[in-house]
Amino acid sequence: MLVVLAMGVLLAGPGQAARPLVIAHRGASGYLPEHTLPAVAMAHALGADFIEQDVVLSRDAVPIVLHDIHLDAVTDVARVFPERRRQDNRYYAIDFDLAELKRLAVHERVDPRTGRAVFPQRFPAEAGLLRIPTLVEQIQLIQGLNRSTGRQVGVYVEIKAPAWHRQQGHDLSRLVLDVLARHGYTNKDHLAFVQCFDPAETRRLREQLGCRLRLVQLIGSNTWREAGADFDQMRTAEGLRRVAEYADGIGPWMPHVVTGIDKQGRAEVTDLVRLAHERGLFVHPYTFRRDELPAYASSFEQCVKMFVEQAGVDGLFTDFPDLVR
Ligand code: CA
Repeated sequence: MLVVLAMGVLLAGPGQAARPLVIAHRGASGYLPEHTLPAVAMAHALGADFIEQDVVLSRDAVPIVLHDIHLDAVTDVARVFPERRRQDNRYYAIDFDLAELKRLAVHERVDPRTGRAVFPQRFPAEAGLLRIPTLVEQIQLIQGLNRSTGRQVGVYVEIKAPAWHRQQGHDLSRLVLDVLARHGYTNKDHLAFVQCFDPAETRRLREQLGCRLRLVQLIGSNTWREAGADFDQMRTAEGLRRVAEYADGIGPWMPHVVTGIDKQGRAEVTDLVRLAHERGLFVHPYTFRRDELPAYASSFEQCVKMFVEQAGVDGLFTDFPDLVR
């Protein structure tokens, strides 16, 4: 068993003075196609504290690291398995065994309708050099780099679409917790977070599946219709009180924390961070991108400073971990 370093080295409690955590969003996805092993290695080398894994299942129930339940936006599935689309014209990871998924080339994210790169300045979308990794492969890579570099970097796993996976006959959360436990991640002292948008599932992870890792309730916009949750209510004092019953922190969307900038150049900060800290919850907003700045920010550095120094967040999800460092 590889050593999993104590979390206390990196984390202080809410409100305590600790450097905010740098969380590499889908790896160093600003520089390499998201979630690929090179993107993980680069995030490690660029100084991330944690590296994020979005997890879905293959048909043979292997947890793989992929942002969507679909394959269309980041792989050549339509070319390799043209006949395997569903009636909605989408290709689903869960319709393919791992051995089949391993035949697909992963590329920079595109809009599947137009084929255009979502972030045109990033890694060339036509280069199909890379493969979809499993969750185990990502953990082995991170733990191996932790040993060879002596820098201890953690995992930050998101359970994607748990209710949908259950409809497909699989308990994604249970499978992910099994993988994490087999690799030494079992309690809050270990360098692992588990995050989910679905509040019923996050609560289930704690109360029914016995998850003792640090749990993060993600908070989206109600307009995304994510997991049937009322995220507006969740951001109130009462909503956060309920979140604190089962989670250790929240992962809000950036506009939930800073809404703009005033005439003196100061961030207009919502009360979300204060309310969360009062309930003992840490706050890790998403997603800080050099090539997708909020309209009010004149530079990436200014944007990060507003969230860290004025809003007081405890960590940041970013596609550019080196720039946040
Ligand atoms: Ca995610």
